Amino acid sequence: MAKKVKQPRKKNSAGFGTRSVWAGEEGERWQRATQIPVALSVSYAYGDIDEWIDAALGKTPGHIYGRNTNPTVAAFEEKVRILEDAEAATSFASGMAAISNTLFTLLSPGDRVVSVKDTYGGTNKIFIEFLPRFGIEVALCESGEHKAIEAAIAKRCKVVYLESPTNPTVKVLDLARLARAGHRCGATVVVDNTFATPINQQPLKLGADLVIHSATKFLGGHADALGGVVCGPRDLVAKIYHFREITGACLEPMSAYLLLRGMKTLHLRIARQNESAMRIAQFLESHPMVERVFYPGLQSHKHHAIARRQMSGFGGMLSFALPGNFDAVKSFLPRLCYAHLAANLGAVETVAGPPATTSHVESTKEERATAGIPEALIRYSVGIEDAEDLISDLKQALEKVTGRKRRGR
Ligand SMILES: *Cc1c(COP(=O)(O)O)cnc(C)c1O
Repeated sequence: MAKKVKQPRKKNSAGFGTRSVWAGEEGERWQRATQIPVALSVSYAYGDIDEWIDAALGKTPGHIYGRNTNPTVAAFEEKVRILEDAEAATSFASGMAAISNTLFTLLSPGDRVVSVKDTYGGTNKIFIEFLPRFGIEVALCESGEHKAIEAAIAKRCKVVYLESPTNPTVKVLDLARLARAGHRCGATVVVDNTFATPINQQPLKLGADLVIHSATKFLGGHADALGGVVCGPRDLVAKIYHFREITGACLEPMSAYLLLRGMKTLHLRIARQNESAMRIAQFLESHPMVERVFYPGLQSHKHHAIARRQMSGFGGMLSFALPGNFDAVKSFLPRLCYAHLAANLGAVETVAGPPATTSHVESTKEERATAGIPEALIRYSVGIEDAEDLISDLKQALEKVTGRKRRGR
């Protein structure tokens, strides 16, 4: 029998740095290993049938089968749970699995869900393609129009689904205000917190019922594992867990390990990315070859006041529009030396790409236009490189952009 390495400590009161490192890491360890082992086991053996039955019924702790629970996966869930200061957390094979499983758990035919037009592309597809097929009414509002969103909620609503900041124009929703609107009509309020991470924003404290992450992005931070997670009250998370254990979109133990390891530096990465993104946004805003910069930390951002109120940092994601059309994007992007031209975000490396091949690859050209995404937009996920190097890199690439220069300024 392995001994307890240490007594569980009260982690929720510790700072984000301490929580990122220690949360979810206590408990029994094989051979006193300091690191969480990857439990590559599909099943768990019991010598005593009564003990087995008790574990199977959830009366005593214990794992039964990998589609239900796994020790490495449980440690990952616990770390995110403590970072979000939630009662419970359950994990998924990807962010989209977390989102779809949550929506299908909460919604039934005849129900109505209210969200915004510029949620993540995959989420938007669930709203426009899949939910209507199951007789679920979907109302998608303009992100900035808080009054219109409130009116849509007040009409009738089972779920309010929010994402802030949004993808890719980094709009900000007033989460506390919209959570209040949702609760006035008895709805469950869900927030995708992928862009902000718990370091910059805690939706549960702002009144949301459930918070969702694509752990593939900032939480893992190394672009080497897919994963998703939902945090919230015990009873609600238990229902979502039940849907997932039966339908099967469970997180792989090896992915859980990689995400756990990545999360140990979450606070350091986010602090760096917040700082660099702010400097880069200011640089881009002052550059004559940049039409527009979208970053919630800028005074010029439409929702800067809301962002200041509900976020402790403005995040590592920004986007900017070049003069001209998609040809400008095509000539600019390959000139960047320090950016992967790739679909992911939130990694230690800077990643850049147009929405057409990143956040909104699932959407048509018309759907992107409806979501208010400029044709020559570039989504830029700031990595942990030196900000000066990223700025010089952007500078040299911008010097070669041809097109109409912006007037004024
Ligand atoms: C990437 C992303 C998702 C989907 O996550 P996957 O892990 O790719 O399935 C959902 N929401 C946001 C905001 C994202 O950036």
